[in-house]
Parts: sequence; C-alpha cells; structure tokens
Amino acid sequence: MHIEVSNLNKHFGDFHAVKDVNFEIEKGHLIGLLGPSGGGKTSILRMLAGLENLDSGEIRFHGELVNELPPQERGIGFVFQNYALFKHMTVFENIAFGLKVKKMPKTKVMERVMELVELTGLKGFEKRYPHQLSGGQRQRVAFARALAPEPQLLLLDEPFAAIDAKIRQELRTWLRDLIERVGITSIFVTHDQDEAIEVADEIMIINHGRVEQKGTPWDIYKEPKTPFVATFIGESTVIEDASKLKGFEKAGKILGTRALIRPEYIEVGHDNEFILMSATEEGIIRHLHFRGSEWLVEVEVVGHKLNTYRSLEKETLRIGEKVRVLVHRAYLFN
Ligand code: ATP
Repeated sequence: MHIEVSNLNKHFGDFHAVKDVNFEIEKGHLIGLLGPSGGGKTSILRMLAGLENLDSGEIRFHGELVNELPPQERGIGFVFQNYALFKHMTVFENIAFGLKVKKMPKTKVMERVMELVELTGLKGFEKRYPHQLSGGQRQRVAFARALAPEPQLLLLDEPFAAIDAKIRQELRTWLRDLIERVGITSIFVTHDQDEAIEVADEIMIINHGRVEQKGTPWDIYKEPKTPFVATFIGESTVIEDASKLKGFEKAGKILGTRALIRPEYIEVGHDNEFILMSATEEGIIRHLHFRGSEWLVEVEVVGHKLNTYRSLEKETLRIGEKVRVLVHRAYLFN
C-alpha cells in the first residue's frame, strides 16, 4: 500500500507531540521510525492505525483519505511489544482468530493458517499454547496472526524489545526475509539504531515530534543533515571548528563549519607507523576497550574525544600515551 502523510499534527493538552510531519512510503517498503524516547514515534504509528485522532493533517492510503476510517477498516496488521497472544488459544487458533472474525469458511481458514505456519517457521507448533513457546516463537505467532487476514500495511511497535539480544538478532534477519517474501508495506518503531540500519529500506529519524531526516540507512549514515542525526546514527564526534586541528581541515562530512568524525575516518598509532607526519595531529589515549576482534580506542585530540578502532596485530597502545592521529584520505572532502 502506498502511504502519504501530510502536515500531521498532534497535541496532548498543551504539549505538541507531533509537529507538521510529512512523508511518503512506497508500496512494499519497510520503514524504520527511529529516535529517542518521547520523540513521537508511537503517536505517528497510532494515528496511521486510526487508534489516535489527529489535530490536523491528512493520511492517505493508495491516494484515498482515511482520516475518518475506523481502525478495523484500514487493512492494517499490528505486532506490538506487549501485544499478547490469546493465552487460552493454541498457535493455530491464535493465527485463525482474525479469519474467523472475517467469517472465512473453515477449509479456507485451515489452508491460510497452514500457509502462515509454514511461512513463519512454526510447523509442528500448531497445537501448543503460548506458555509452551519461547519469546521468539511467540513473536513469530504474533506476526503470523497479524498477516493472516492479508493486511495491506503492517505496523510494528518495538516488536523485539522484550527478546534476548541473540534471538533478537536472528529475528531481524527473519523479519527482513518475511517482509520481502510477503511484499507488504511495513513500518516499525525502534530505539535501536543497529536494528533500523539492518532491517529497514528507509529510516525516518524522529526527534521532538519532527522528522529530522528520511533516507536509506546508507544515505543517513553517510550524509546526516543535522548534528543530531550525525550523533544518533553510528558512533561519531562533531568537531565544532575542524580548521584548528592539523590534518582535520577537510575531514569528515561538514555540517556548516563542523566536521563529523566517525571511528573509521581516523587512525591512531606511534610515530613509526606513519610516513607523512606533517599532516597529523597529536593525541592522548584515554580509554582502550577490548572488543574481541579489535580495540576500541578513545583518543583525546585538542580537547575533543574521538573513537577509533585498532587491530590486534598492531603494537598495543597504553592509556595516557601520546600518539599520532591521522585522517584517512578517503574521508577528506573539499
Ligand atoms: P518511546 O520511544 O518512549 O515509545 P515515542 O517516540 O514513541 O517514545 P510517543 O509515545 O509518541 O513517543 O510520545 C510522544 C510524546 O507525547 C511524549 O512526550 C509522551 O509523553 C506524550 N504522549 C503520548 N501519548 C500521550 C497521551 N495519551 N497523553 C499525554 N501525553 C502523551
């Protein structure tokens, strides 16, 4: 379903929670709404679902205005963090629920549920009750239940927030694959930038009720439009006046007079590791975090704390020692 939202506004009392939000979503795309707590992500989702009234603005599905359409007529499926399954129903009955409400004939229900069971990898679990499933399996049932009535839009509000890190990682890949196979337009809310980057076709960064930036994860990472976006997506430090640092004059993506320095932009090391020392700044190692496959190094350069990585084969650095800090040529801009 193609979605178009224009000039969306929402107040809660005096509080302006959603401010003139505009966006368009292409049919079949998976969009991640990412941003700090209280930014307005859930409010936007609830207005799309028809669960919250809007103060002003227009929501169009397939070009048609749906502002007044009740939730059950919008053709939407939901998976929420706490959208619990029916405890007294089996996996089969949970998935079949929306189809029975629609008065689908029994044989059709059977067919559709088995299709969903197959699609979500739940074969063999049909007769189990929710308490006999793991958290990840329960969430897969929730997806199957949401998809069963063939909605045209899927809304996901932190669907994996309550699940262990390792299973969450597996579910992300699983979700990406599922959405691709079903080809359904989907919007998911998350706090987790890694999740958004990995799963979404496009990310919308929501902050203080506004869309700060919308684009592919790659575009947003490479070309953040505001310092907020730059620091929210990926690790980075913003240097207010890069011209004062030797070798940093053209460093990073410039945001006005500022330079954005990400860990992969720079390298630290001892004098003998660099050939062209004239173009380097001096720094002091402040922290070293062992990350298994490499070191994460925090280096202080003229009062700025920058992070970078260092491979394990190289000489080990020590906290407090002086090092050279070099900006990789690929990250120098004119
Ligand atoms: P989170 O990531 O914490 O879920 P969010 O980005 O989804 O946050 P919303 O839940 O949309 O943010 O809330 C946006 C703002 O509106 C918050 O400041 C919140 O306190 C406020 N708000 C949301 N719902 C209501 C309500 N029913 N009544 C009053 N204020 C509300």
